Amino acid sequence: MTDVASSKASPPKTVPIKVVGLYEKHKTVYARSVNGTFNSWRWAMVLITQALFYGLCWIEWNGRQAVLFHIVERKFYIFGLVFWPQDVIYLAVLLVISAYSLFLVTAIGGRLFCGYACPQTVYTEILMWIERKIEGERPARIKLDSQPMNVRKFRLKASKHILWLLVALWTGITFVGYFTPIKELLVEIANFDLGPWETFWILFYAGFLYMMAGFMREQVCKYMCPYARFQGVMFDPDTLIITYDPERGEPRGSRKKNALPSSPPLGDCIDCSICVQVCPTGIDIRNGLQLECIACAACIDACDQVMDKVGSPRGLIRYSTENALAKHYTFREIMAHLLRTRTLLYAFILLLVIAAAGWSLAHRVPLKVDVLRDRTILSREADDGRIENVFNLHISNTDERDHRYTITVGGLKGISLVGQSLVEIPAASSKMVVLSARADADAGTKGANPIFFAVNAENFEQIVAHEKATFFLP
Ligand code: SF4
Ligand code: SF4
Repeated sequence: MTDVASSKASPPKTVPIKVVGLYEKHKTVYARSVNGTFNSWRWAMVLITQALFYGLCWIEWNGRQAVLFHIVERKFYIFGLVFWPQDVIYLAVLLVISAYSLFLVTAIGGRLFCGYACPQTVYTEILMWIERKIEGERPARIKLDSQPMNVRKFRLKASKHILWLLVALWTGITFVGYFTPIKELLVEIANFDLGPWETFWILFYAGFLYMMAGFMREQVCKYMCPYARFQGVMFDPDTLIITYDPERGEPRGSRKKNALPSSPPLGDCIDCSICVQVCPTGIDIRNGLQLECIACAACIDACDQVMDKVGSPRGLIRYSTENALAKHYTFREIMAHLLRTRTLLYAFILLLVIAAAGWSLAHRVPLKVDVLRDRTILSREADDGRIENVFNLHISNTDERDHRYTITVGGLKGISLVGQSLVEIPAASSKMVVLSARADADAGTKGANPIFFAVNAENFEQIVAHEKATFFLP
């Protein structure tokens, strides 16, 4: 009775509706700059990879661009090597080598590639460096972004974006310069004579870099990169990862000058949060290994500096392994566990594939021959009473020198060529040669008889190719 009366007296309470977003709101990461050993390594990798990328396309070799994937000519030049579409097997071998290198490096050192050599990391570092030079350090950038637009803010933001766009455009031009000779490309740009595909790829690559390294940054690693998802299967408890040592660091807390002697003892972590401020993905490594950690080691450098200042030993955050933390391995023991069945197997397969590819490249004959029977003329009786078959030989001189080739035929008693048996082919080019071969009617069995063509470069005994064909006898 009382309940009914009270419910009539007070109106039902409305529960406030809390809207929960399906996606976490993006928070801008203002990474603080850091100095230290690993930062130097990271910058060394930025310089090496970019010197290679921006510089290789300007090196000349035998009067041509040393590294050029010439799409129009359908030839790939890598210094003294010329690859043709028929050499696609080497592309497959290159992919196998890249895959096994990645497996090996990841099994030993975790996300070393992400932290030091991934293009996303490298270009983000470059654009962040420009950002720091123009907008200042982390507190200055946070302050600038919180201000409404004014003349100074506009000037700083405009300068940053112009420099970012210049880097992106030059990178786009360099990228396309590996597929169209870069000097020709620059002339085309200067004359406003760029082809549609070149224009598209320059703008696409530049736009991609500008967006990914300028704006998306850590979101690419967190949400878009497939490698971040599947690398977990390549990790094991003996893989080197960047770890915080909770046994040493906890309980964390800032050191108070007026702390009582009876206060509980604190661990080495002074909870300064500098390791979080320097993190380009904005995570706290003290929460353990996380998918977002790209293993850049910035937090190691930052924490080591803090430890130096407070007089504690370095290495509260360090490269270690799950097993090393749990079983208190020494440095020697950690190193010894890097050589285990998995890593040795990866290394063995990798060496085997590299050795096989090296041997194959060293013994590669710079000559390719394809024989096609002329199907319009199966076989016919010639003036001299012998049987004649016509063949088309597609001969490719894949060498960097011009060659004169001698063509011979064999495999059937008395078979010989009629007419041209010498052909000159300039370097890195091919020629179609039409040849007639004749044999006596009783030289073989009725129907198809196997024969072969031998093509040999004059004065170069080792440059020889044999190709099978079929000779028809009526
Ligand atoms: S930098 Fe080192 S001391 Fe500072 S919060 Fe991070 S782990 Fe703790
Ligand atoms: S947690 Fe450390 S190593 Fe991982 S991304 Fe952040 S700063 Fe780099």
